[in-house]
Amino acid sequence: MPIRILSDDLINQIAAGEVIERPANIVKELIENSIDAKATKIEVFIRDGGVHLITVKDNGHGIYEDELPLAVTRHATSKLNNNNLRDIKDFGFRGEALPTIASISNMRIISKKNDQKYASCLEIEGGDLKAQKPSNIQRGTLVEVSSLFERTPARLKFLKTNRIETSHCKDVFLKMALSHPNIEFQLNIDGRKVFDFKIEKNGNEINLDRLSASFGEQFISNSLDINYKKYGYNLKGKIGFPTLNSSTSYYQFLYVNNRSIKDKRILGSIKAAYSETIPKGRFPYLILFLELSPFKVDVNVHPSKAEVRFDNEREVTSIYVSSIKSEISKLNEPIYSKIENKSTSELFKNDNSYEINQNELPNKISSFAKENSFNKFSIEPSAKSNEQTFSDQKLDYPLGAARAQYLKNYIISETTDGIVVVDQHAAHERIVKEEILYQKNKNKICSQLLLIPEIVKLPALQLDLILNEIDTLKTIGFEIEVFGDDAVLVRAIPEILTNSNIQELIGDVAQELFELGSQISIDEKIDSIISTSACYGSVRSGRILSIEEMNALLRKMEITPNSNQCNHGRPTSIKLSLNDIEKLFKRR
Ligand code: ADP
Ligand code: MG
Repeated sequence: MPIRILSDDLINQIAAGEVIERPANIVKELIENSIDAKATKIEVFIRDGGVHLITVKDNGHGIYEDELPLAVTRHATSKLNNNNLRDIKDFGFRGEALPTIASISNMRIISKKNDQKYASCLEIEGGDLKAQKPSNIQRGTLVEVSSLFERTPARLKFLKTNRIETSHCKDVFLKMALSHPNIEFQLNIDGRKVFDFKIEKNGNEINLDRLSASFGEQFISNSLDINYKKYGYNLKGKIGFPTLNSSTSYYQFLYVNNRSIKDKRILGSIKAAYSETIPKGRFPYLILFLELSPFKVDVNVHPSKAEVRFDNEREVTSIYVSSIKSEISKLNEPIYSKIENKSTSELFKNDNSYEINQNELPNKISSFAKENSFNKFSIEPSAKSNEQTFSDQKLDYPLGAARAQYLKNYIISETTDGIVVVDQHAAHERIVKEEILYQKNKNKICSQLLLIPEIVKLPALQLDLILNEIDTLKTIGFEIEVFGDDAVLVRAIPEILTNSNIQELIGDVAQELFELGSQISIDEKIDSIISTSACYGSVRSGRILSIEEMNALLRKMEITPNSNQCNHGRPTSIKLSLNDIEKLFKRR
């Protein structure tokens, strides 16, 4: 066959292979166009994961009637002001998105410039212009994409379920909404309004509604602000406490000049910055915006523009590492800085979580511990009063005798040579986890049938994940069945989790599965599910405990493997020895 130049249609389809893998890519391109058009309100509609229909409507500056056909012509753009690829201020500059999307779908663009009387509508089918006619839209632009990939069935086959595609679209939407607090954003999924984000009025650079929709509410109270400004770089945003962590890097939202990016080197520097404070294999939550001169960064690396290249990569990564590290170190300062004596402050810098040496256990419990057998243990509200004389309690247990509860969360106990502070929730969570693991390893899972099976509705992506793991979940005591399109029926749960809020429990397990991704082994999966579930079987922070209950928990900790660390790697108890106390009071 002679050499020939490919037709525009084929060129567009090849380009689509690079940029448009799934509906979410289209949502991203269309929202970017609306932002470039200076819209202050953007509405996104998605049907059937975006395969059936994606509509993005904005109130931006619109497109002139006679320019509409140009908008879907390859390499036609109104951006790139100075014809300089290093001076990019808009999201778009390649003039590729619309023609590419149009080549693999049916598209309608309706647009109206402010100084035009009527809107105009352009119809394209599989890349061919079909018609242009007057239309009615008040202002801005509406782009509608339907029948996606119908002409490229191979692509269609690669798509995941509608639920998963919807969830990718949602991710893209949230990432764009987060970086543009001054634009109103709405998302409608299958006829339901899912998000309605108003413009941030409090002057916050990050809109808190959008933040909690993306990261969960706990991120707001468990994060630190980053604000670095030097040498032409400005890095700002929020980084989560090391204690708030996930098993994937999903919750790391990175932006460069307001463009959402994925960059291995930046992800690597974040890992390095947290390496001393976060348990291995866990990832922090964070959202960071880097601003720098467009001349110092190249965004034209890949058509999807998710990769960037910095002129001075080392300078950039070191900014991430140093600003994150210096913020995290402040977390500990209030405690350290109050202790003047340097030698004693050193004391706190070590990991002083209190590990029990099994040999130290008093005789009567050590044999019990060696058997590693778990007796039935529960912390139920006690009818007995708290009044118990101190004298009848043993101080020679490793975790001593409970004396008081602080802030309904910490047990203060006295040992022969110091004071131990125990985080009641973290400690009990570990105990519950080890108990489930123990039962599982002995093949003696105690499962509790629910009197009334519970229906739990789940988001699509998570529902799929739970359904895929029904058998795994069974090995640790969950009996779950599919129930309609969007729910599961829970028939039984591990006995130790009785009285849990099943809706939340299953929701959390699903979220955990989502974060774990598919690359991990079944054992790791089980381990993580148990860690997540254990929270529900354990005594909460905020529960008042009697002295008896506190002592029961301490004794249980002493015989539970790994009980010095909670399921998320934090210490469960901290010991202040008499020696330390005397140093603090400068008696030594
Ligand atoms: P690019 O964004 O790289 O310029 P696109 O193919 O995405 O390329 O869009 C082509 C052109 O169509 C844009 O340069 C812009 O002039 C116009 N356009 C696309 N979407 C909109 C919109 N929502 N509002 C106004 N103009 C738009
Ligand atoms: Mg564009």
